[in-house]
Amino acid sequence: MNARAQQPAPNHQHPASYYAASSLPQPDHPVLTADLVADVCVVGGGFSGLNTALELAERGFSVILLEAHKIGWGASGRNGGQLIRGVGHGLDQFANVIGADGVRQMKLMGLEAVEIVRQRVERFQIPCDLTWGYCDLANKPRDLEGFAEDAEELRRLGYRYETRLLQASEMHSVVGSDRYVGGLIDMGSGHLHPLNLALGEAAAAQQLGVKLFEQSAVTRIDYGPEVKVHTAQGSVRAKTLVLGCNAYLNELNPELGGKVLPAGSYIIATEPLSEALAHSLLPQNMAVCDQRVALDYYRLSADRRLLFGGACHYSGRDPKDIAAYMRPKMLEVFPQLAGVKIDYQWGGMIGIGANRLPQIGRLKDQPNVYYAQAYSGHGVNATHLAGKLLAEAISGQQGGGFDLFAKVPHITFPGGKHLRSPLLALGMLWHRLKELV
Ligand SMILES: Cc1cc2nc3c(=O)[nH]c(=O)nc-3n(C[C@H](O)[C@H](O)[C@H](O)COP(=O)(O)OP(=O)(O)OC[C@H]3O[C@@H](n4cnc5c(N)ncnc54)[C@H](O)[C@@H]3O)c2cc1C
Repeated sequence: MNARAQQPAPNHQHPASYYAASSLPQPDHPVLTADLVADVCVVGGGFSGLNTALELAERGFSVILLEAHKIGWGASGRNGGQLIRGVGHGLDQFANVIGADGVRQMKLMGLEAVEIVRQRVERFQIPCDLTWGYCDLANKPRDLEGFAEDAEELRRLGYRYETRLLQASEMHSVVGSDRYVGGLIDMGSGHLHPLNLALGEAAAAQQLGVKLFEQSAVTRIDYGPEVKVHTAQGSVRAKTLVLGCNAYLNELNPELGGKVLPAGSYIIATEPLSEALAHSLLPQNMAVCDQRVALDYYRLSADRRLLFGGACHYSGRDPKDIAAYMRPKMLEVFPQLAGVKIDYQWGGMIGIGANRLPQIGRLKDQPNVYYAQAYSGHGVNATHLAGKLLAEAISGQQGGGFDLFAKVPHITFPGGKHLRSPLLALGMLWHRLKELV
C-alpha cells in the first residue's frame, strides 16, 4: 500500500451511546486515498462485513474492507447486545423450497451461529463482557405454549445447553416485574458489549491481514468479472465483492435495498445501579425479551446499568427525545426505577425482510457479488453465521449452508424507497391490533 492510502482518518465519532462511552480504544483506520487491488472487497464494517473479511483472510484471501464511518458505527455497535440462538422465524415455512432436511439444517445453523461468537471471543480473547443466560418472557399464556414447543424442538435438535420453562409464579427468579406469565430460560444464549466485540473482531481481522479503511463510503460500483468499487478519494478492484451494509445500504445497490426495510429501534441506559437494585431487577443477570411485535428487550451492563431497548419506528424519523420516549416503557416494567437517572440514549436501524429470514446470497446477474442482510433485529449471532457461509461460498466450498439460504426467494417491497416504510408501518399496526385481540 502506498503512503497516500495510509493517511489517517479524521476524528469521526460513533453516535453517543453507552457503548461508545465504554468502548475499548478505537484505533483510527485510514481513509482510502489510493487505487488498490484485492481478491475480495468487503463493504460495511459491522459484524457482517468484519466476520466475512476475517473468515476470508483465514482462508488465505487478500481482503480490503471499506467502512463509510467507523468500525461498528451501524447496528453492530449500537444494539441490545443480546446474543440469542436461532435464525429467522417460522423456518418450517421454507420446507417447500429447501425440504424438511434443509429446514433442519437451518435450525442447526441457528444454534451454530452463537457458537461462532463464543469461539471468536475465546480465540481472540475479546473483552466484550460475554455473559451466559437469556430468558424469553411470555406476555400471554399463548406465548408460553409456543415456548414449550421451542423447548421440545431444541431437545430434538440435540441442543446441549440447559433450557427450562418457567411458570408465572417463578418469574421473579429471573425478572423483578409482575408483567409476565412465564418464560423460557436458555443458558446457551446470553449478552455482550457489541461495540467491543466489533472492535475486537476488527483487530483480529487486521492481524490476519485484512486492510481496513474508515471514512471511506463506497459511492459507485462498476460491476463485471472484476468489480471496481469507488470511494470519494480512491478505488478498489477485486474479483469478488461482498455487500454487508444491511439497513444502511440505501441506494448503493437498489436491487438489494428494495428487499430490506430500515426500522429504528431505541435504547436507554440508566446510571449504574446499586448491587441490590440491579439484583432485584434481573437476579440472574440474564438478557430478556418479551414477545410483542414492538418488543421490549433489556439486560444489565457489566457496570450494572439497565440497558432497556424497544420500539420499532418505520417512519424514518427518530423520536425527538429518545429518553422521554423510552423511559415510560421502562417504568411500565420496573416502576421502582422512577427516581433513576438516564445517562445515555441512542438508536439505530434494524433491517427487516419480508419473511424475516436473513438474506444471504449472491446477485443473479452478478455472480461475483455476494451479500448478507435483513436480520430483522436478530443479527448478533446470524451475522457471524453469514460471514462463515459467505467465506465458504467464495472459497468454492460446495453444498454448504450458503446454498440453502441462497435458495430462499426474498420479495422486493413495493413502493420504492419513499413508500416502503409507511407500508411496513401499516403492516406492523395490523399485527399490533391483532395482539390486542
Ligand atoms: C437498536 C438496535 C438493537 C438491536 N438489538 C439486537 C440484539 O439485542 N440482538 C440481536 O441479535 N440483534 C440486535 N439488533 C440487530 C443487529 O444489531 C444487526 O442485525 C446487526 O448488527 C447487523 O450487522 P451488519 O454488519 O449487517 O450491519 P451494520 O452493523 O448496520 O453495519 C453496516 C455498515 O455498513 C456501512 N455502510 C453502509 N453503506 C456503506 C457504503 N456505501 N460504504 C461503506 N460502508 C457503508 C455502515 O456505515 C455500517 O457501519 C439490533 C439492532 C438495533 C439497531
